[in-house]
Amino acid sequence: GGKPRRLPEWLKRPIPSGGGTYFTKNLIGELGLETICESGKCPNRSECWTRRTATFMILGETCTRPCGFCAVKRGRPEPIAADEPDRVAEASARLGLRHVVITSVTRDDLPDGGADHFRRCVLAVRERTGATIEVLTPDFDGRPELIAIVLEARPEVFNHNLETVARLQQHVRRKSQYEVSLRVLEQAKRLSPETRTKSGLMLGLGETTDEVLETLADLRSIGCDFLTLGQYLQPSPRHLAPERYLPPEEFDELGRLARLMGFHEVASGPFVRSSYHADEMARK
Ligand code: SF4
Ligand code: SF4
Repeated sequence: GGKPRRLPEWLKRPIPSGGGTYFTKNLIGELGLETICESGKCPNRSECWTRRTATFMILGETCTRPCGFCAVKRGRPEPIAADEPDRVAEASARLGLRHVVITSVTRDDLPDGGADHFRRCVLAVRERTGATIEVLTPDFDGRPELIAIVLEARPEVFNHNLETVARLQQHVRRKSQYEVSLRVLEQAKRLSPETRTKSGLMLGLGETTDEVLETLADLRSIGCDFLTLGQYLQPSPRHLAPERYLPPEEFDELGRLARLMGFHEVASGPFVRSSYHADEMARK
């Protein structure tokens, strides 16, 4: 036993660089925005930005929940920035983004969990760009009336991650629950059947293959359209350690099974993140 200490060969990849990346980073900084691409040091940055996809993080940088895998800081959150929808829209327009992903920390301190701010951000981007828009939301405690507020803005894709299988929720997400997250996706589909729903899992946290397949069946049972499967990587030694690095072939096989189960689009691979190749999915 013992946890793997060294990264396997297939996870070693050069740090992204290049002019496009630099330009994007500067503009985002100038507008005082946060992207998960940058703050999460996502390994896909240059690829996504070249594809004109970026993930903006709204509602501040401080989360009210303590997930064991996540690099976002926790504590007392900042007040909502009223001009944030305009800044996200401005950055999206100036970068010529074709697909915009809008995500946020969980704001259990706000009466509406930030739902109306999500709605305003989507509308602002819609007004300024022709981009497809994906929201990657917190669970809003599963409250349908809050999910409905976000959906009023008609994002093309409603994404909410289960992150891991049912048995490991408490270990990995601590204060968030499997059933609540499933209901979030179910409600989104019910409230807006034409919106594509999407979810994702991080693998390598100790789940069994059977548990992954059960989770995928649960997602299909509520009509979830798109799926992402990626390798969990530890953001720092203080975070949960991965139990295992799945070889690329295992991701391929899971992706194949997921398609057989009826997901319309699947991204499965060691570097896949929630918004990886999200532009392709959104256009299906
Ligand atoms: Fe940004 Fe997501 Fe692409 Fe990573 S996968 S660079 S977070 S859009
Ligand atoms: Fe990170 Fe989301 Fe968990 Fe907050 S709720 S710690 S942002 S994964």
